[in-house]
Amino acid sequence: MKSCLFCKIINEEIPCNKVYEDDKILAFRDIKPEAPVHIVIIPKIHIESLNELSEQQSEVISHIFLKTKVIAEEQGIKDSGYRVVNNCGEHAGQTVQHIHFHILGGREFFWPPG
Ligand code: 5GP
Ligand code: ZN
Repeated sequence: MKSCLFCKIINEEIPCNKVYEDDKILAFRDIKPEAPVHIVIIPKIHIESLNELSEQQSEVISHIFLKTKVIAEEQGIKDSGYRVVNNCGEHAGQTVQHIHFHILGGREFFWPPG
């Protein structure tokens, strides 16, 4: 999707601080980190949000979660714990309309988030 910020990062039109990449997904550091470790992990196919996810596309989401575990270990937050967040839509504060998961760690988080 031409106008999508995360598609531009995938196409290297916008630089990112890359943490992991393969043929299906990309993970990079968030530009405005909310925690000592704050990584955004995205599929390379453009899916606007969780609401648009189809059955055929769902495999990439399990791939994202399996790699999240590996990235957490590499970043040294696997044992201390981490939070994985998907913001879907306006009330959740989704600002980039390309499905993504935040991996947050290196500090304590509280529940409920408020
Ligand atoms: P959302 O609010 O949609 O769940 O998350 C979007 C995230 O993308 C935000 O945490 C924001 O800081 C991050 N972000 C926005 N623009 C850029 C950018 O150009 N580069 C990187 N690395 N992160 C970005
Ligand atoms: Zn996109």
